[in-house]
Amino acid sequence: MRTTDVIVIGAGHNGLVAACYIARAGLSVLVLERRPVVGGAAVTEELMPGVRVSAASYSLSLLRPDVYRDLELARHGLAFTPKDPQMFVPLPDERHFFVWRDETRTQDELARIHRPDAEAYRRWGRFWDEAVSLLRPFAESPSPPPPLEVERSWGAAAPTCGASRSRAAPPSLWRRSSSRMRCEASSRPRESSVRGRGRGSQARPG
Ligand SMILES: Cc1cc2nc3c(=O)[nH]c(=O)nc-3n(C[C@H](O)[C@H](O)[C@H](O)COP(=O)(O)OP(=O)(O)OC[C@H]3O[C@@H](n4cnc5c(N)ncnc54)[C@H](O)[C@@H]3O)c2cc1C
Repeated sequence: MRTTDVIVIGAGHNGLVAACYIARAGLSVLVLERRPVVGGAAVTEELMPGVRVSAASYSLSLLRPDVYRDLELARHGLAFTPKDPQMFVPLPDERHFFVWRDETRTQDELARIHRPDAEAYRRWGRFWDEAVSLLRPFAESPSPPPPLEVERSWGAAAPTCGASRSRAAPPSLWRRSSSRMRCEASSRPRESSVRGRGRGSQARPG
């Protein structure tokens, strides 16, 4: 009878990474996947004959450097292609804008549509630059703390996280900023034709 130390259910990228680390630790591991392809939501599939696309996830956001290194993903063929423009955003009135890697270029696009949004985009970028620099050490720590713990520690003092030590965070940066955005959105709901679109979904993950 075949025996195994660990069974991983689901061959999405998290299941696959976990299985690789388990195998590296010397245990036998069996990955069970219900679909005929592995990769979960981070998979390339031929949706139409000759057209291979990423079926769900469209952007690599949070690959941990240690996973990339440990699993020798470069040697196994992983290559990165930065996309530029990052997004094409059609508006209901047939206008559109692109989100480029170059912030100024994106601002120029937004200014054509609604000038205050161009300035807001710059502030939005500064917010995410700060938020990402504070959050990244948590996300990349060997044992990321739960979000509530992060928020509590930010409210009290500079957070520490495993071997990583983040610089002091303004208390409740996340909550303050998101509530401010909610206020802006509800106080001037019709001012902007581009509010809620664009960079938000990618959150400048780097
Ligand atoms: C539409 C969409 C767009 C996204 N875009 C991005 C993006 O651009 N960038 C980004 O970083 N993240 C993106 N995400 C999020 C990202 O795809 C997920 O965080 C990631 O796929 C989670 O990986 P996972 O391995 O935990 O789960 P999944 O990728 O969901 O994989 C789970 C796997 O388990 C299998 N499975 C489930 N149940 C069973 C079972 N009972 N038996 C056997 N197999 C089972 C499934 O078939 C699947 O293969 C997006 C998600 C969606 C849905």
